[in-house]
Amino acid sequence: MGISENIQRIKEEIFSLCKKAGHSPEEVTLLAVVKEADIFQIKKAIEAGICDLGENKIQSAIVKYNAIRLAHNTGRVKWHLIGHLQSNKVKDAVKIFDLIHSVDSEHLAEEINKQAKKIDKIQDVLIQVNISGEKTKFGLKPDAAVEVIKKSAEFKNIKIKGLMTIAPLAGDPEEARSYFRKLHQLQDEVNGLRTTDYGLRVLSMGMSQDYKVAIEEGATIIRVGRGIFQQ
Ligand SMILES: *Cc1c(COP(=O)(O)O)cnc(C)c1O
Repeated sequence: MGISENIQRIKEEIFSLCKKAGHSPEEVTLLAVVKEADIFQIKKAIEAGICDLGENKIQSAIVKYNAIRLAHNTGRVKWHLIGHLQSNKVKDAVKIFDLIHSVDSEHLAEEINKQAKKIDKIQDVLIQVNISGEKTKFGLKPDAAVEVIKKSAEFKNIKIKGLMTIAPLAGDPEEARSYFRKLHQLQDEVNGLRTTDYGLRVLSMGMSQDYKVAIEEGATIIRVGRGIFQQ
């Protein structure tokens, strides 16, 4: 199947899963993860209706961002950073990303605030939570995530829009369900504390292997790479 057929199919799945779960399909963003895609494939995805692109490395993101910006002279496409962010790359990151999914320390939040301020931007971010507790994963433990959110409330040039997690790789997508549910519960808990006056609305969870389960558990952004670009 081609890229546009894949996108069409996933959009239909989003539609029917949302209908079943009783929420609006517009609440779920299909983020196309382009880390293994070339410019030609990315353009095809945009032509097929994709408005959100995700990269995990700053350098590749800059190259692709520039190529796509030249080709599509519209403000329609949004860029998401989904990979680990080092402090020394923050300056570049705030220039191109609409949403940074991978804030995993107070220090990083502070640096993003500082660099965003320099370019007069309010940077939207998500807090990455290591909900499964796997040692190999980036992300804050749930308790630490709550602390970082509380402390970051004073940073005027970042806006915490929600939470992000990566479920462990598993043969069965059902194995991810409890982690997605826990992230949703953490969101409710944080919103109950009223640390921000706007509330956390975004749940970035689910990849090619488990996005259907993620939607059932309340994902508002699913991050799909292979499911779109692998033919
Ligand atoms: C690569 C990646 C994805 C997409 O994974 P696929 O299995 O290709 O859908 C999603 N989120 C993150 C953080 C990634 O690094």
